Amino acid sequence: MIIIKNSAAKRYNQYSRHLQDIFNCKVYKITIDAGFSCPNRDGKISKNGCIFCDTGGSFSQAHSNLFSIEKQVETGISRLKSRFGAKNFISYFQAFTNTYAPVEILKDLYDRAVSHPEVVGLSIGTRPDCIDEEKLDLISSYQKNKLVWIEYGLQSVHNKTLELINRGHTFEDFAVAVEMAQKYNIKICAHVIIGLPGETGKDLLQTAKTLADMGIDGVKLHLLCVLKDTGLENLYRQGKINLLSMEEYVETACNFLELLPSSVTIHRIAGNGLKKLLIAPQWLGEKFKVLNLIDRELEKRDSFQGKYYIAPASDLKNSMFAGRKAIPELE
Ligand code: SF4
Repeated sequence: MIIIKNSAAKRYNQYSRHLQDIFNCKVYKITIDAGFSCPNRDGKISKNGCIFCDTGGSFSQAHSNLFSIEKQVETGISRLKSRFGAKNFISYFQAFTNTYAPVEILKDLYDRAVSHPEVVGLSIGTRPDCIDEEKLDLISSYQKNKLVWIEYGLQSVHNKTLELINRGHTFEDFAVAVEMAQKYNIKICAHVIIGLPGETGKDLLQTAKTLADMGIDGVKLHLLCVLKDTGLENLYRQGKINLLSMEEYVETACNFLELLPSSVTIHRIAGNGLKKLLIAPQWLGEKFKVLNLIDRELEKRDSFQGKYYIAPASDLKNSMFAGRKAIPELE
């Protein structure tokens, strides 16, 4: 039987609750900027970057790579301790492409990020075309005593969209990267953007269904937003981009959740965004309102994560959802 273990309050599998179940306390992520670049910005693939990416490489804070890794970890820990009384932490390599260096350099950076005794996990954000067996072998080695995740930026499973947003890699690159990480039993979180240009609701649901079929462990959902000095800003100013309303986002996010197995952890479903850089939509900052609306929408539908997930035939026999109908849009 499929059970959403931590669903006491939510109808989806919140990553924060999942961590609490593992460590018996709240666990907080410390974001790290290790000074990496990105092949989609330094000219190896392109110089323009993904059309939604700001000059900080999708980092949530002001540039902090002037500080050592140790300093960033210590600062993050003391801030989260005084604010929330936090005790356990995950070092999260967030800015740019955090596997874009020789393995010896990666080892040094990752070692330093997990050396603090209160750091219980390591999370590494990267592009699916910047990973190989040697790097995964290194990342896997931290699993001996830390919780380890690799976060692959994907955004969509549709190559036409990946081209349009200038990702510089294909869905097939992602599939290879997933298969490699799964060989090492490394947990994989896929980043997906809702509301990408040229995508229909059906395209997005196909992304959800594909990730479910691939056995992805976690998903981070982002709303398409326009930030200053991005390719998307130009398109937006020319009136070529339609942005979702809050209601549309909530409805679409709920549709997405319904197609994922309940075992997939939802690392993010609403965020505050990069306020200083945000051009539109302005409602992006209303994180708690969005979270409440998602809860209410699922309740109204009498729905939950996995309601329309079709388990592989071998699992279906024992599933509480056996025999249910596929979601109509995908038939
Ligand atoms: S791969 Fe990541 S860091 Fe590089 S341009 Fe795209 S979003 Fe930015």
